[in-house]
Amino acid sequence: MYLNEELIDLSNTVLKHLPYPTFITDIDGHIIWWSSEAEKQFGYHFDDLKGLKLPIFNEYTNGHLSAKWETIVQNVDPVRLNPVVIYSKDRETTKTSLIAKSFSIDDKSYVLFQIESNTIQNQDYSFLELQLLKKGLSDSFMVLYLDNEGLIIHANESFLKKSNWTPKRILGKSFWQLFPNTPDHISIADEIIHTIQKGNKFQGTVEKMTKDGLNYWVNILAIPITDTENNTLYYLLLEEEITEKKLLQSRLEQIAYVDTETGLMSRHRLEEVVTEYIEDNKHFSFVFISIDQFYTLKDIFNDQTKSLLLIEFTKRLKIYFEDSIIARADGDDFALITPLSDWYIQGFVNFLKQNPIYLDSRVIPITVSGAITRFPEDQQSYLHLLKATNSTIQKVKLEGGGMISSLSQSDHYKLTRRIQIEKRLLVALNHNDLHVMYLPQRDLAIGKITAVEALVRWEDDVLGVVPPDELIPIAEETGLINDIGTFILEKSCEQAAIWQQQGIPVKVSFNSSIREFRDKNMVKTIRKVLKKYNCSPELIQIEFTEKFALEAEAEKSIIQQMQTLKEEGIVFILDDFGTGYASLRYLQLLPIKKLKIDKSFVSSITQQEKLQKLVQGLIYFGQSLNVGVVAEGVETKEQYDLLTQMGCDSVQGYYISQPISAKEVEMLLKLN
Ligand code: C2E
Ligand code: CA
Ligand code: CA
Repeated sequence: MYLNEELIDLSNTVLKHLPYPTFITDIDGHIIWWSSEAEKQFGYHFDDLKGLKLPIFNEYTNGHLSAKWETIVQNVDPVRLNPVVIYSKDRETTKTSLIAKSFSIDDKSYVLFQIESNTIQNQDYSFLELQLLKKGLSDSFMVLYLDNEGLIIHANESFLKKSNWTPKRILGKSFWQLFPNTPDHISIADEIIHTIQKGNKFQGTVEKMTKDGLNYWVNILAIPITDTENNTLYYLLLEEEITEKKLLQSRLEQIAYVDTETGLMSRHRLEEVVTEYIEDNKHFSFVFISIDQFYTLKDIFNDQTKSLLLIEFTKRLKIYFEDSIIARADGDDFALITPLSDWYIQGFVNFLKQNPIYLDSRVIPITVSGAITRFPEDQQSYLHLLKATNSTIQKVKLEGGGMISSLSQSDHYKLTRRIQIEKRLLVALNHNDLHVMYLPQRDLAIGKITAVEALVRWEDDVLGVVPPDELIPIAEETGLINDIGTFILEKSCEQAAIWQQQGIPVKVSFNSSIREFRDKNMVKTIRKVLKKYNCSPELIQIEFTEKFALEAEAEKSIIQQMQTLKEEGIVFILDDFGTGYASLRYLQLLPIKKLKIDKSFVSSITQQEKLQKLVQGLIYFGQSLNVGVVAEGVETKEQYDLLTQMGCDSVQGYYISQPISAKEVEMLLKLN
């Protein structure tokens, strides 16, 4: 007789909680597991019955069961026997009914019996089977349950461990939040949900993200489950991590320089080849071609058909670009190194139309997006070729794809300049080439200049003047904004302290992105700088815009840091008020002392009555909240007078002064 230890283990964990007597036999009817509820109701211990052939039934039931045995074993659906008579250990009889259901694990068949008790009737057997498998699955897989909208309702230990979420935090989060926030990843998540929402299963390899933003790879199986009792739909997701395997595969590819799926040159080799071409000064076009909506191509999405599609696509590339170098850049991105002309490359779109891909004798309707960047005309290094090509292809995709496009003149100029700014900014920061100008602000109640706004200025030997509107976004993207932030903080504190010592009563505002407050050490940093220059916190005002929406996760720490600084005397100003969607929310949430009405409102205030009403409203609004109102971009006497009339607290703009140096501020204040 065969005893499956694992099955017993499994049943002990999973089935033991069932509130009705349950047992399992092997294919010959020998008992291999007996639940504790059955022990309770019938007095037999598992040890009394192990390996025995159903001694608990009376003859009538035994006969009935034998007659039905073949059916039970062969039938996937549960078989119900009614009535059955069961002897307890002390020979008392119970008349009840019974459900028997066969199932297989590892090619071995078993029969699961459930004895109906009065309280529980007609349990759904698919549910029971699921319970049985649950433990086994939970041991081997990361398990997630979603509700029918894709919100997480359960995650098992191994999932939590891998993803670094706490059980409390993950509940109610959406499935999409488990993926890196890129269009490709989001569309895979969409695809998974759409597939299971339609009642189909989804199987594939996907890249996910832990709570801390680390990516990992899993094989995923997602299946819809109907809970017939409540008539609700759930989704069960089983995931198996394969990051190691992926890494190994990529390492092998690195060694072999071959993409294992398509047999093309791998991207590692691609980089080398491009670099060699550049070194030899060979002229070529660097081309990306990417299959449009690869991850949402309906009906073909399983790993096997996906591979077939890629292979077929590769064939077409090889035929059309016969003498060019073709590589698999990533996922559905292919790269070419080719001397061919733009128009020939662009002809691939039509070639694909004329030579469609068939899978299972069905045409798969694919189109491609592509981008061409030339060496040396457009870009001069591998990295820059890659960046430019990437940004062109993103544009093509945004415009709906189906096209191969080359770099436009203006893109070309912008890209080159941008890359230069990135490079030169590093040097500027090292050489202290940035400096600060101050924009005076007049308090209307007393008619005097009481504050200045520090604005960063950069004039580079090569690039000329780089205005903040160009500089700041690039700095934000590259992370150099933190260095600029530190520079401005230092300068502002230093200057404010100098003026304080000279007895000049003026505060210094500086701009900061709320992103900088995500740095948990922001308070410490500011305190340190204040101390370094012996600057009192009351002299400092921090302006920030709502450009970066607060993330729920970071929110608490940002608010806390701002609160602490406010208590120490620092004033926060909400800049560009009225241009963002979250202005009011921020006023509620953050310790804001002043708001600054954006210059776009001020610029036409004298011409538009509607705008006047709006600005007047904003001023009343600020006053009612006890928040000071500053108007910026005041250029004319009319604007100035109107704002004074409206009760605005202070104004700044070219009417008062252009941004000026610290010395000029001192001179201006002498006239104050
Ligand atoms: P902002 O904070 O709204 O700064 C006001 C901008 O308007 C400044 O441009 C200023 O020179 C300009 N301005 C002042 N008065 C007038 C006026 O009457 N008419 C007109 N048309 N413009 C006026 P700037 O210095 O080019 O700065 C542009 C933006 O760059 C700033 O907008 C701010 O968001 C950002 N910025 C500037 N310096 C820094 C900095 O040190 N750190 C950060 N994070 N951002 C900065
Ligand atoms: Ca500002
Ligand atoms: Ca502003």
